[in-house]
Amino acid sequence: MQTELLTASAEGVARAGALLRRGEVVGIPTETVYGLAADALNPSAVMRIFEAKGRPSDNPLIVHIAARAQLDALVTEVPAAAERLASLWWPGPLTMIFKKAACVPSVTSGGLSTVAVRLPAHPTARAVIEAAGCPLAAPSANRSGSPSPTTAAHVTADMDGRVAAILDGGASGVGVESTVVDMTREVPRLLRPGGITVEMLREAVGEVEVDPAVTAMLEQGVVAASPGMKYKHYAPRANVTLVRSAAASYAAFVNAHAGEGVAAMCFDGEEAALTVPYRTYGARDDAAAQARRVFDVLRGWDDDPTVTQVYAACPSSDGLGLAVYNRLLRAAEFEVIVLDD
Ligand code: AMP
Ligand code: MG
Repeated sequence: MQTELLTASAEGVARAGALLRRGEVVGIPTETVYGLAADALNPSAVMRIFEAKGRPSDNPLIVHIAARAQLDALVTEVPAAAERLASLWWPGPLTMIFKKAACVPSVTSGGLSTVAVRLPAHPTARAVIEAAGCPLAAPSANRSGSPSPTTAAHVTADMDGRVAAILDGGASGVGVESTVVDMTREVPRLLRPGGITVEMLREAVGEVEVDPAVTAMLEQGVVAASPGMKYKHYAPRANVTLVRSAAASYAAFVNAHAGEGVAAMCFDGEEAALTVPYRTYGARDDAAAQARRVFDVLRGWDDDPTVTQVYAACPSSDGLGLAVYNRLLRAAEFEVIVLDD
């Protein structure tokens, strides 16, 4: 398949809409990461997303809408707390899980009786949804398991020849995927941390539980509340290990392990003491910068075939840091070294 490269112009948006109406898959920009979109209500179109990504069929997709009014047809009820969160953060990087209406095909919801819905803030994403004339199922536009794409070039690297078109809308502003909250429970439950932090959610609606899978490996035999949580994710080819420590002991640890294939992923301004190749991913106290850069830096290791082991400085898990930490934990397959400072 020849993949068309579209610009974020009126023509590009119209072309994306026409392809989506025909049941094709199109890579689109959003403020979180790039998505791989198809008509959420057309089972064969949604199947094409799973094929292009190599995604396990039990991992449900997020349905993207262009206006709050589109929600009612997709779900059987909107709890008061969800209404409140929508009024605060839609459009924005917040996905909520509802009981699904019959029109949502089971392939979209990964066989679950619930559906995840988001109203993105990116104007081009909303324009494409409007041009398509239907809600769009759109997981991150990476091959399953790889770091999520935050530029059209990342999408091309993973999806060229596998999808009908990719629309270039510049770099994603948030850089990590949306916050996912299950609103079908008595107490809302955070399933995936993202741009809307758990602190913000609690301030808006009171108690919010955090699913154990956010910061810990699922035990054998436990059913994942969010099926995506059980898979290895976001990983470059090199092995990633998280190192939790202050700057000086991090550098001493990495230098002590210097050798063939060893590299560091550290905070801005903490690279001077390192004796191994490094990439920085934002200042230690700047979680927003870390979120914007973490996937690009993870992907970058694949450009250097000599790197086989990356020691990544562990971010704080407060605020937006929890989202960065959650992604790096999965990239590292939960391998964390804790040093005494
Ligand atoms: P992605 O499409 O790559 O942004 O991933 C979507 C995430 O939302 C995955 O972790 C899914 O498992 C999760 N998700 C989507 N729909 C549901 C649902 N109905 N219930 C629980 N988790 C969901
Ligand atoms: Mg994904």
